[in-house]
Order: sequence, then C-alpha cells, then structure tokens
Amino acid sequence: MVKYIYKEFKSVINKLKYPDSWFWSRYTLNTYSGCAHACIYCDARSERYYIDDFENEVIIKTNFDKKLDQRLKKARTLLPDVIAPGGVNDAYQQIEKKIEHTRKVLKVIAKYKFPINIATKSKLVTRDVDILKKIADDTWCTIGFSISIINEELANFLEPYSSLPSERLEALKKIKKEAPNIQVGTYFIPIIPFLEDNDENLEDVIRKSKEAGADFVLFSPGLTLRDSQAGYFFNKLRNSKYMHVEKLLKNLYKGEMHPPSDYCKKINSKLLKLSQKYGVKIRVKRWIPSDYRKWNYKVSELLLNKEYIDSLQTGKSNKSMMWAGLNLNNLEESILDVYRRGELHILKSFNSKIINFVKPYLEKSKEIKQKKGLEKFL
Ligand code: SF4
Repeated sequence: MVKYIYKEFKSVINKLKYPDSWFWSRYTLNTYSGCAHACIYCDARSERYYIDDFENEVIIKTNFDKKLDQRLKKARTLLPDVIAPGGVNDAYQQIEKKIEHTRKVLKVIAKYKFPINIATKSKLVTRDVDILKKIADDTWCTIGFSISIINEELANFLEPYSSLPSERLEALKKIKKEAPNIQVGTYFIPIIPFLEDNDENLEDVIRKSKEAGADFVLFSPGLTLRDSQAGYFFNKLRNSKYMHVEKLLKNLYKGEMHPPSDYCKKINSKLLKLSQKYGVKIRVKRWIPSDYRKWNYKVSELLLNKEYIDSLQTGKSNKSMMWAGLNLNNLEESILDVYRRGELHILKSFNSKIINFVKPYLEKSKEIKQKKGLEKFL
C-alpha cells in the first residue's frame, strides 16, 4: 500500500550546467518524489539519491503548477529550453490518473512555450495528448517510452506496476497517429545482462518499436549496480525463478558498477546492426531555438552525435569532441559570429580537427551564404 504525502517545496525547476546529450534536456523538474512503479532494478534505490522508502512513500509536491508559473513568468534569465519531467520518478505513475498533477504542470509549460521531453513507462501519457500536441505545434515535444523487455512475464517481475510493454507500444502508436508532430520513440535502457540482452529480445524491441511508429530507439547496454540498489535487485532475483542470474551478473561485473566495455561494445554493435536493418534512428532529433543559440545548438548536436556514433563503433570516447559539443551550449554569442571573425580556435575544446570538421557545416548555413553574397556589394 503506497502512502502519499503532500508537501510544498521551494524549488520547482533545476537548470543543468550542460544539456543532456541523449534527451537534450536543459531543465529538470519532478512533480513527485518517489515512484510507485517500483521497478526492481531502479537506480533511485541507491544511496546517492537520499530517498527513503521511495516506492512506498510518494511525495506529491503541492502548488507545483502555481510555483512553476511564477518562476517562468519572472524568469528573465531562464531562456526556453527542453524540460525533462521525471528524473528518478515517473510523471505518470498511478496516482497521476486521479490527481492530474503532471497535467496541470504541462499546461504551464505549454503557456510559456517551453519544449519538453518525457520518459515514461505508463500508457497514461496518452491522456495528455491534447496539451502535448500544442507544445509540439508551438515548439517541440518528445515522448520516449522506456521499453527494455517484450516478454510480459519477465516485464511483470522487473516492472510490476508499470503498463505492460505491449500497452506502451500501443500508446506510442496512438500518439504518433493522433499527433504526428510529436517525436516518439523507445528508450531501450537499461538492458539487463542475461535477462534482456538475448538476440530475440534485442530484435523484438527494435522491430516492435519501428512497427508502432517510433522515430527513434535510444539504447544503452548494461545496468548500473550500485550499493543498496544492487542489494535490493539481487535479493529479488534470489527469491525468484531468475535466481541463477545473480551469479552470472557478479561474474560479469566483477565488483564494478558497470559491465565491462567489451560486453557493451558487443551489445552496441548488435543494436547498431538491428537499427540499420529496421531503419530506426538511434538519436533524438534536437530542439533548435530560433535566437542567437540556433547554430550553437546545431553544431553541438552534430559534434555530440558524431562523438556518440564513433564511440559506439570504436568503443572509445573522444573527450575533446564531447566537451567542444557541450561547451557550445553556454556560448553567449552565435558561433557564426565567431566563425566570421576567424576565431573558432578560441572556443573551449575546439582543436584543429574539430574546427576542420565543423567548418564545412557552417559554410552551408544560409546566414553565412547570405553574408558572402552581400560582401560582393560592400
Ligand atoms: S518508472 Fe523509472 S523511476 Fe519509477 S521505479 Fe521504474 S525505473 Fe524507477
């Protein structure tokens, strides 16, 4: 029996120093604290989140919509950017059906025309298609369903109170049909070794997502195994028909929090091939603002996506490219002006390789072409 506690919080929205390069979010907000979906592998059980009894005591943050309205109204420094509700909770967990807490918050987000990216394991999100469609019409809206297993018996064990995977796929299909301008897809995360990484499941998740109309499938092999979260998960396994998996996981992880890189490389390579086979994109298309940040965000997306794809293929990350892509989001002028002055080298982490990579892209921009056309007459 879940206990619901009503509590007012001072802060309602948090700005990230850098955007998340997977979901493109710049702001996070949590309408709830705790999550009654109670997935047995959930990372929110680890000590780093300081959430006591997170699935049995859910806090409903009161006056959230009013406080967010005040914050967005006053905010001169808060430029519109992607908001991601539900960090270590699901914005559409069971109680939402009754109290419409997230729905009220969505209305505020729509009022101020902020873009949004929602990750959920619930079909309830389809209830709010009217508001989400408006957000997509005005700016940008992405909805990703977390689906990492198709077998419903196993899904019931791992995610006992979420909508069934088939219901999530149906919800995805419904949203795509009713609001094609909403970007929809699947977050194939986490992929639990020995339970969800078999060839059949990998292919089923990609294929069924594509058939339902997914614009993207984002994947990440492995499961983080951290302190009390790992303890809880192992305990659940021990008392189930999947008890043999504990030993297999311990052998694979060897006391680390993440699986070894050669394991991830192997699964990534399979998923990359399957995505190509079914013609599924493996990145979320980014929201691009129309102000001075436009080309900063475009180039940042280009760099971060290239870094990601290269790392999938080689198993190695390119830190300079990653930081060049991230830092661009905090540049207070347009990269086009920096380029026109011949000063790309002053940008953080922009080495000669990166400059040579982005130059042809900038050259293609309408703004640069127009300027070059005008120069003939000056
Ligand atoms: S829905 Fe997400 S936040 Fe909620 S329990 Fe499951 S994994 Fe955790």
